[in-house]
Amino acid sequence: MEKGSSALFWLPANAWPLAGRTHVIPVCWVNPVDLSLATPPVPASALPAVRAAIRDGSLAWSRWANIQFTGWSTCPTTGDEKFVRIWIGPHTNNDLQVDGQTGSYGTNNLFPPSPLADRYSSSFRIWINGMSPLPSIAVVAIHEFGHILGFPHEFDRADRPLATSCPPGNGGATPGTANLTPYDNLSIMNMAYGGNPPFPNLPCGSSTLTESDITGLIRAYGYRCSGDTDCDGTPDYKDNCVYAANDNQADSNFDAERTLAKRDGYPSFY
Ligand SMILES: [Zn+2]
Repeated sequence: MEKGSSALFWLPANAWPLAGRTHVIPVCWVNPVDLSLATPPVPASALPAVRAAIRDGSLAWSRWANIQFTGWSTCPTTGDEKFVRIWIGPHTNNDLQVDGQTGSYGTNNLFPPSPLADRYSSSFRIWINGMSPLPSIAVVAIHEFGHILGFPHEFDRADRPLATSCPPGNGGATPGTANLTPYDNLSIMNMAYGGNPPFPNLPCGSSTLTESDITGLIRAYGYRCSGDTDCDGTPDYKDNCVYAANDNQADSNFDAERTLAKRDGYPSFY
């Protein structure tokens, strides 16, 4: 029996396919050499902060599900190999905010090489001011990578409660989506994911993956059956893993994944 509320819905048609035993998502940096030249400058630590947030962090998407982000080099300018292209740049209004924007969902964010090194050639963008606290980058990165994985904003699902969703009464059904779990205002994929809700009377968003976000993620991509303890990007597979669910159903695969998660000491989010 499930405990508490759960979150997430997604576009299964845009899901990342299995490549071998893992759902592989290739990413690259559009502009790693431009950061210090930006006005105001963006700290070079922004890139590893983003990478750590979504790949190595204890609350990262890939910590929980059978997905692997690969690449992390400068984006190609020629050829035909596609990547999720990440652009980081400064806030032009010199404020202290960190914002993000992703153009599409899931595999639709795979972009071909481009000779341009600007945000118009990117799959998703993070704007940062040089004075912004880097932990905020991590939160934005986790949210934007949720879109990369195929998860729209939680308030854009058809069964959102109009009176109490975030924002109340707004949003709208996203075509082609399927619910992974019940609606949840606290999902990191909801509005105000940074923990600064513009709707003070509502519990909107979170600054990390919630337990329910993790549940929906595992239903989408399967339980992470690797222990990449040295963080070299190469999973160390365990025995008896369930390599993919990827069917947005709470089914026998999911039951097996729950057992494995408990065996490996993950929090009790089921
Ligand atoms: Zn978003």
